[in-house]
Amino acid sequence: MKRNHCLLAKALGYEPEQLVLTDQVHGTEILRVGKADTGEVFEDNRRIRETDGLVTDEPGVMLMTFFADCVPLIFYDPVRHAVGNAHSGWRGTVLRMGEKMVERMRLEFGSRPEDLRAVIGPSICQSCYEVSADVISEFQKVFDKADWDQIYEEKQNGHYQLDLWRANEIILREAGMKPEHIAVSGLCTNEHPELLFSHRYTKGKRGNLAAVIGLKEDVSCTEEEIMEFCRELPRYKRPKKIIFDEVPRNPTGKIEKPVLRERYCHGSLVEAQIRN
Ligand SMILES: [Zn+2]
Repeated sequence: MKRNHCLLAKALGYEPEQLVLTDQVHGTEILRVGKADTGEVFEDNRRIRETDGLVTDEPGVMLMTFFADCVPLIFYDPVRHAVGNAHSGWRGTVLRMGEKMVERMRLEFGSRPEDLRAVIGPSICQSCYEVSADVISEFQKVFDKADWDQIYEEKQNGHYQLDLWRANEIILREAGMKPEHIAVSGLCTNEHPELLFSHRYTKGKRGNLAAVIGLKEDVSCTEEEIMEFCRELPRYKRPKKIIFDEVPRNPTGKIEKPVLRERYCHGSLVEAQIRN
């Protein structure tokens, strides 16, 4: 497992020590976390207990949840710069975990539902997900009768096919999110055993899928910081002049990705990534 954590972290460009993990119990406990909560990924006794959702606005904190048919709900607020990651199986869906995440991000970061972006990640699809009448009666209690047809289909054997993707989409819309800001991956875990872990397909003998999201740490810098960096370069690499007018910037006026390339530099070639 340690090896898989390292492989994933390398592929996505973070360190495993930046992770904060859930401890999922099919509940709706949501925790706001930060740097102080990271660094426990390989420890047996982690501090976070019985928590199915995580939110943060601290760059460099990677939130991770686990699945094997249940639904990952992943959030990003491009205005307030915050992220969230939650586990929503059928119990979490009945408890309206998606709505609770939207509400929590509003409380913690001032996120407006209409700004939020969400992904409903790979999980079990409606045609693979047969459930009994007692599960459906739970859904009937919390969804409008007008939506029932969209959420499940009754079969001749008295069982039902349940659509957790649609149910979660309805919840997020009712929480105020825009339909065009909700992406459904449409990838069924039960139908892709070669690629994904599925509890149903393997009858419980399986590993876990992980969903991860985080904000990148700010690596932008000012013109002065770039000039200082250049002064420390060996003379032959030092540019005579940098055309700052052409270098891409972020809304604060800082240079967004401080990668200086030939086209911005007169004199000598500078190909350098500047980090603080
Ligand atoms: Zn399926």
